[in-house]
Amino acid sequence: MDTEIIQVVDPEKESSVNSEENLGDLEEEEACFQDIVLLLEHGIAHDDLKRLKAAGINTIKGVQMTIRKKLSEIKGFDDAKIDRIKNACKKISLANGFTTALDVVDQRKQIFKLTTGSQQLDKLLGGGIESMAITEVFGEFGTGKTQLSHTLCVTAQMPGHNGYIGGRVIFIDTEHTFRPDRLRPIADRFNLDQTTVLDNVLYARAYNSEHQYELLDNVVEKLHEEAGLFKLLIVDSVMALFRVDYCGRGEIAVRQQKLGQMMSRLQKISEEYNIAVFMTNQITSDLNNLEQPDVQKPVGGNILAHASTTRICFHKNVKGNRIAKVYDSPELEECEVAFAITSGGIDDVKDVD
Ligand code: ATP
Ligand code: MG
Repeated sequence: MDTEIIQVVDPEKESSVNSEENLGDLEEEEACFQDIVLLLEHGIAHDDLKRLKAAGINTIKGVQMTIRKKLSEIKGFDDAKIDRIKNACKKISLANGFTTALDVVDQRKQIFKLTTGSQQLDKLLGGGIESMAITEVFGEFGTGKTQLSHTLCVTAQMPGHNGYIGGRVIFIDTEHTFRPDRLRPIADRFNLDQTTVLDNVLYARAYNSEHQYELLDNVVEKLHEEAGLFKLLIVDSVMALFRVDYCGRGEIAVRQQKLGQMMSRLQKISEEYNIAVFMTNQITSDLNNLEQPDVQKPVGGNILAHASTTRICFHKNVKGNRIAKVYDSPELEECEVAFAITSGGIDDVKDVD
């Protein structure tokens, strides 16, 4: 595996250097993020751009992803103004809503895959944790979900296949289980500088489900400010706070509505900024499965099921080995592999004689 780390460019820091080759790649990526400032040339007022930004909408794609009802909640945005803005976006993106399948193939070339640290697990995932998608790993306690989150914080920073140059990571921690020192031995395993690795991970602790949702505004701000530099958003774990905040009888419907809003936001973020969203999830017993009552399923119901692109189940077998199994995916076979948790993070199981 290539062990060269990208020194991600930070505009604040003069010491951050990058190779010319990588800078070229970054510029190309930035071109994908069409800033709403382009609307000025189409007669949209500066003040309206400020209001869009305050609502967390920074790109042309962002406007196109936002429904009229949501835009009309912005102060001073009436139907006529929304029409003008939507039309201007259409002109800028030169799109009538359709592209050919061939164009989609081209767009999907931007997608990158992050290694999990285990070649077997990568293979199960079709190459790794994919960008422009949400990957969910669920399983009982101690199966390695948080360990994989920590490993990805490091591996996302390394150059990878198909010209992937590596990038920064945002970590939203809902269970207070993030341990920055855990990143050190993982960085050592890949011969990376520990301080640089830690410096490239932005961390936020979410204290309740509303805060978890609000943090996504900060995420979008960061992704826009440092366009193309962030490659991975981790939410560990996605349902923990929702389960605490909406635990009463009759609260499930509200919980699912709020959860749906958050998941929709996560989906848009992953596509708009071409980042990988990785989230962990908890399990519950499947009471509907009368034949196998001990079978466990992820929490979050249909809302989470539909929002996650790929769902992987982690469990321990009788020998205590960790097993990963594809639970739901648009393109992966339903198979399983074993993996190991080591001091250097997630790894392949080494054969013992
Ligand atoms: P939960 O649902 O409780 O959050 P989890 O799936 O996130 O569980 P992890 O914290 O990822 O669980 O995994 C815990 C396991 O990782 C423990 O079995 C622990 O022994 C192992 N582990 C933690 N640190 C190391 C390390 N430095 N070296 C090897 N194994 C480790
Ligand atoms: Mg955990």
